[in-house]
Parts: sequence; C-alpha cells; structure tokens
Amino acid sequence: MSQSINKVAVIGAGTMGAGIAGQVANAGVEVWLLDLPSDGDNVNAVAARGLERLRDPDAPGLMSKEAETRIHLGNIRDDFEQLADCDWIAEAVVERLDIKQDLYRRIESVTNDKVIVTSNTSTIPISLLTEGMSAAFCERFAITHFFNPVRFMRLLELVRGEQTRQDIMDTLDAFCEERLGKGVVVCADTPGFLGNRVGVFAIQCALHEAFKLGLSPAEADAIFGRPMGIPKTGVFGLYDLIGIDLMADVAMSLETILPATDAFHEYAQPIDLMTQMIANGQTGNKGGKGFYRDGKEGREVLDFASNSYQPLARLQLPLALRAEAEGVAILLQDDSVYGQFAWRVLSSTLNYAAHLLPEVGNDLVPVDDAMKLGYNWIFGPFELMDQIGVNYIVERMRREGREPAPFLLQAQGQSFYSIESGNLASLRYQGSHEDILRTHGVLRFSELRQTLAPINSNAKASWWVYDNAAIVEFHSKANALDGDSMSILLDALKQSQDLGLRGVIIHNDAQHFSCGVNLVAFREFFEASDWHGMDAFLNHFQQTVLTMRHCPLPVIAAPVGMSIGGGFEVVLHADKVICHANSVTGLVESGVGVVPGGGGCKETLYRWFESTGDMEKAAWKAFMNLGYGRTATSPIEARRQAMIRDTDEYLMNRDRILSTALQQLDQVTKVAPRQPLTMVGKPAFDAMVKWLYDAKEKGMFTDQDCVVGTEMARIVTGGEVEPGTVMTEQDLLDAERRSFLQLAKTAASQERIVSMLDLGSPVRN
Ligand code: NAD
Repeated sequence: MSQSINKVAVIGAGTMGAGIAGQVANAGVEVWLLDLPSDGDNVNAVAARGLERLRDPDAPGLMSKEAETRIHLGNIRDDFEQLADCDWIAEAVVERLDIKQDLYRRIESVTNDKVIVTSNTSTIPISLLTEGMSAAFCERFAITHFFNPVRFMRLLELVRGEQTRQDIMDTLDAFCEERLGKGVVVCADTPGFLGNRVGVFAIQCALHEAFKLGLSPAEADAIFGRPMGIPKTGVFGLYDLIGIDLMADVAMSLETILPATDAFHEYAQPIDLMTQMIANGQTGNKGGKGFYRDGKEGREVLDFASNSYQPLARLQLPLALRAEAEGVAILLQDDSVYGQFAWRVLSSTLNYAAHLLPEVGNDLVPVDDAMKLGYNWIFGPFELMDQIGVNYIVERMRREGREPAPFLLQAQGQSFYSIESGNLASLRYQGSHEDILRTHGVLRFSELRQTLAPINSNAKASWWVYDNAAIVEFHSKANALDGDSMSILLDALKQSQDLGLRGVIIHNDAQHFSCGVNLVAFREFFEASDWHGMDAFLNHFQQTVLTMRHCPLPVIAAPVGMSIGGGFEVVLHADKVICHANSVTGLVESGVGVVPGGGGCKETLYRWFESTGDMEKAAWKAFMNLGYGRTATSPIEARRQAMIRDTDEYLMNRDRILSTALQQLDQVTKVAPRQPLTMVGKPAFDAMVKWLYDAKEKGMFTDQDCVVGTEMARIVTGGEVEPGTVMTEQDLLDAERRSFLQLAKTAASQERIVSMLDLGSPVRN
C-alpha cells in the first residue's frame, strides 16, 4: 500500500536539491527548499540561488510560473519545523557523511514515523548513512538517486536499506514513477548503483583508450557516440558538459568505494593532461573551455600536441556513418584505429556490465534501463551485445587472452532478449528467459514493437496494429519527415477503416517525436529548380494531415521530446494530443527562411481564432508566433500559445503515454471540419509589413527576416485582399505553398537551409 505525498521538503538547494524541488513543484505538489542560512540581507539566499538556476531558459527546470509558486524557500535554522508535517523529506546536501548523519538526527527529532526520508547520495552506502540511527528511522529511510538535470533525466535509482519497509518503497516508487515521471529502477545498495557504475566505467574507458590510441577528441567522439547509439557528446564532449574537474572527482570517489578486484581501477587513474587542464581552468563548458570551446569563428577543439585550440572541422568518418545506418556491429569489422577503439571500449564496457550480475541482482533489464534512462543510450549494454552477437564477443575476447564474464559464457548460443510466447523476455543470470514485467500502465513502444509485425513499413516509418488500434511510428534519423513517412501515415489512416480498427495513434519511443520535414528533400528540389516537385511534396504532406482530420476514426498524436516544424504540423492535425510533460513544440521554419507549409500557418491562425474569437487578434498572434519561430518548452506553455487545446493532455511519465492513448481512443471526439475564415485583409497585412520594416530599422531583423515575415503576414491576413474576404481551409493551404515556394526560390533562404544542413545552424542573413 502506498501513501499519498502532498508536502515535500528538500534539504540542500544545490544542483540536485533545486532540481528535485522543481520537479516536485512541476508535479503539482508543495515543496520546501531548505539550505544553510546566509549572513546577508536574505537569510534564504542559497535556496533563492537554487530557484534562480531553475529559471535557466536553456534548460528550464520548471514547467510553468505556477509551479514556481509551489516552491517555498527556507533554511535549516529557521524553518526546520516545516519538516514535521511533510510526507517526504529528500536530503540533497553535499556528499559528506558527517553532515548527512547530523541532519538525519535532527530530522528524526522533529518527525514522526510516517515521514519518509531519503538521500540523494551518489556514493555512500545506505548502511553507512543510517549507522547509529534508530530502527524506526531506518525503516522509513531509502536512497532516491536522481540524475542531473532532474526534470529531463528519466532515471531514478531507488535503493532499499536492509530495514526499509515495503510500504515506504511502494510509496516512493509510485510517486516518483507517476507523479515525477521517472523511470524507477530499484537497485541493490552496491557502489555507484547501476547508472554511474556502468556509465562512469564506459566514459573512463573511452577516455583512456582514446589517449592510448592517439585519437583526437573529435575522432573519439565520432565513434563513441551516435554509431553506438550514445549521445553525440561522445566522451570528450560529455566531459566538457559535466565538468572535467567534477568528472575527475566522480572517478576518484568511485575508485575509493569499489573493491580492489573491480575492473574499474584499470581506467580510474587521472590523465596528466587533464590534471593540467583543470589547473589551467580548462574545466569544460562551465569555464568556457575544455576539450572544445566556442571560438570567435565557431567551434574549436583542443589540439593535444600544441596545447592550443584549433578550428573544429566537421568530421565525417565513413565508418561512423555506416555504423549509424547499419548498426554497431559494423564498427567491429573494421581493423583501422577507429575499429580498434570501438572494440576496446565496447568489449570492456559490455563485459563489465555482464560482470555486474549477480552482484546487482540476476536481472539484466535494470542495467539496460539505467543506461538508457540515465545516460541517454539508445540501447542498453545487453541490447548492444545482442546486436553484436554474444558468441562474437566471447570468441574475440578469448583470442586476445581475455576472460569473458560468466554471464556472457552462459548466454553463448542465445541472446539476452528474446520473444517467448509473444512476450519480450530477458535471460536471467543462471536461469532461463523470463517475461519482462513493467509497472501497470507503463508501455514502451520500443519494447512492444519487437513483439509485433508491421502492417506496412518503409525506411522512414511503419505502422502496426495493437489492441485493435493502428500505431504509426516515424523512425528516420531525428524522425525527419518526408514523402515516405507521410505515405505510411496515409496508408494507416486509410487501411484502419477497412480493418475496423478503433483509431490511429501516432507515437514513437525515440528521444524526439520529429524534428521536422527533412530539409535534404527541399535542398534537392531547389538545387534542381524542381518547383513543381517541391509543390507536389508539400501538397502530399498537406493532404495527409488533412486526411487525419477527415478520417472518420479518432486520431491521437502522442509525442515525446521535440515536435517541431513538420513534426508539429502532424500533431496540430490530430483530434487529441496526449504528450509528455517535457514536450517541446513549435513551428520554427522562419529560422530556415521558409513558412510552415504543411498546414502549420493555417492551423496556428485557426487555433488563435478559437482561443480569442477575434480575427484581427488571431492574425497578429499567429504572425508573431510564426515569425519568431516560437517554441513552448512545456505543454502548459504550449497551451498558453494556442499550440495545444484545453482538451489535450500531458503526462509526467513518457512511458505512460501510449497506454493512456490506447485507453482513451474510444472517448476521443473528432475535431469538426474547419469552417471558412473571414480574413482581415490588406490593412492588417500592410500594418504587419510596416511593423517588420520598422523593427528592421531598429536593428531587430535582417532583410531576409522581413521577406519571410511578409509571407507569414500574407498568409494569416489573406494579403492584399479586401477585409472580409472569405477563405477556406484549402485556400489557406494553397497560400502556404505559394509563399513557401516564393521563399525557397530566394538565395538567402537557400543559404539558410544549406547552412542548417552543413553546419547545424542557419545563417542570419
Ligand atoms: P551542490 O554542491 O550543488 O549542493 C549541495 C548543497 O548542500 C549546497 O547548496 C550547500 O549549501 C548545501 N548544504 C551543505 N550542508 C548543508 C546542511 N547542513 N544543510 C543544508 N544544506 C547544506 O551538490 P549537488 O551536486 O547538488 O549534490 C547533492 C547530493 O546529490 C550529493 O549527495 C551528491 O553526491 C548527489 N548527486 C549529485 C549529482 C550531480 O550530478 N551533481 C547527481 C546525483 C547525485
């Protein structure tokens, strides 16, 4: 039985404490954030600084202004009595046993036996934390190990002490999973738990092997990155992100807590160059320079030989590109230095992960989950081993005189995951395959799809039937959309009716739902001056999203991560949106010099008209949203910007979106066909154009910004038409395509698209 949590206190308002408080507030729960008292004017200055960090616009820890009002700042001297009626107290103070224990003693003196207490420690075993505490306290104590940044990292490691009561574990599990939206992995109280144990090993191993083989940071990151399903920060980029000094401390502290026999020690030693870098203040992104830095002319990388920063050339290693397209095993068939690097890092890391069983339990799924949710790996270590082949790893290691982990030997001739009686199952240590059981309501499409056969599929998208519903999955790189993706969607919309399905759900379990229409397609069109082809492409996209509307079956869009540009145009045409709380939405086409041409301008105008009831206001609001390419970083923000409706929903846990969509499909009301709009016409169009050029005079916009803005104004007002001119939905779609083509023909917009594709960011021209 789990109890409800209505009031929380977080002690320690540093990186983690502030993050935890922010996420509790995002979940709609009141939270006190306490730190040490300050001497100056503001006694709660430390907690206030913690709150300030949550306001970072680049990684907002808070979903809304309302969430902020739920955070109450305080200090442990004046506000300690607030703890008495809390349901949960999360300690996140510095990693010092004496300070933590001292706090626990004080907490015990003011709280009753119902109050749950947890620590966010990364390294201190629970037995040490609670040493000398009463049995009653130990029963209500656990470790809740969050990852930074708390709002965005999915993993929560929940560690039970020998005496922790089951109901305490159940309460924390349920609250953190459903309300805080975390992927809860229950771990044994072993050093570094799971995520950091494997994750820190992997990056230390990659670092040491890169130095041994003489690879540059850019070369190492090109291999230990996307080709392995690892974030593109790779190893050196990740060091810069975390902080080279902080990572050195983390490695050091793991070294001190792991037994002497642990393979980690082989890679734990600090590297001289990095010790020097720390001394020079080259500590990574926070200090403005590390292995990489942003120079005046663009990104630069540290050249180890000359100890100077050199321009970072875009590195396109053919091996890396092939592995990205064809899978990780390709890396190991290569005998170049890159192939050797890949083999050394993968074999050591994967073997290390396999060695953890049975120390951390006999189930491999938590290990894979920890790496996927805590380090954003697309595949966990055991999934990677299945892709490479266990036999291959065992045989190659043996040829090199290395001893594979017992679990690898056990798995020879089979795979770690398999489908057993239609269910996804995993191999148990010294056992057989057993079904993977997820908490009720948790359904990951990445797992479900392994048990299904697609109805129709191509390289960019597939659709499947599950629970008598069609599930459309985009699966191209970054889920960029093109004609193939839209054809699959169209096919699902059409065939679902014939098959008598309940409806259509558009969902995928990737990091991002879709980063927009594939710009490569547009580049090919304009380089060939194929304007007819470009128009047909846009028209196909538009007619597909219109089919979502006109299809008699309900259509739910269930996005996670980013749905921007064309991806968001798909979302805009669903009857209902059930999205993740961290969804980022918006029409960002202006940045690349075009207008949204897949129904986005039209839908933005309709949405603002629905929410304001006034065409003049709606036109201006749409003009501003589109012109600035505004994005919303939470569904609450998106609602405010008329990007999603009041009937749309969001969930804190992305793993619950699909099951919720399946559950709600029968209750969805179809959105009525769009009625013609009475356009505000020429006076408003002229006013918008004047506004643009006035702003340009003030230095706010470039020439091309004004050209693009003018086209947006033309679409949302009707352009040169008389006020009161009526336009249908199709008229607006036609206007979008006309403006899109007009802009795509300009050299400046083409330059923006090319720069986006080649350099990763558009030029400001
Ligand atoms: P931090 O240094 O950013 O913040 C620690 C805060 O604790 C400071 O604001 C400090 O003033 C406060 N503090 C110190 N003594 C206190 C006391 N007696 N009472 C109240 N506040 C006190 O540290 P952090 O990175 O947020 O780490 C906090 C905990 O979380 C540590 O146990 C750490 O191991 C763990 N952790 C850190 C990370 C990470 O990425 N930073 C990740 C997971 C876990």
